[in-house]
Amino acid sequence: MPESKNIRCEEVVEHLLTFLDGEEVGEGRRSLIEQHLEECRSCCSRADFELALRHRVREVAAKRPTAILRNRIRQLIDQF
Ligand SMILES: [Zn+2]
Repeated sequence: MPESKNIRCEEVVEHLLTFLDGEEVGEGRRSLIEQHLEECRSCCSRADFELALRHRVREVAAKRPTAILRNRIRQLIDQF
């Protein structure tokens, strides 16, 4: 297996957000990243973390931050 066919963790991390967005990461790189994520535990858990974070941010944004803030203040007041 030629060394140049492998992709390094640094390169995966560098392109991870673009990759997760489904945007173009360069010719042939997408499959290399996919392959790397299957084989590299460290990058795989990082990708999982980024996906979970994005999901969480979308969830919170969908619930209207002002309503959440209002509930939070009410909860704080109720504690007294
Ligand atoms: Zn890696």
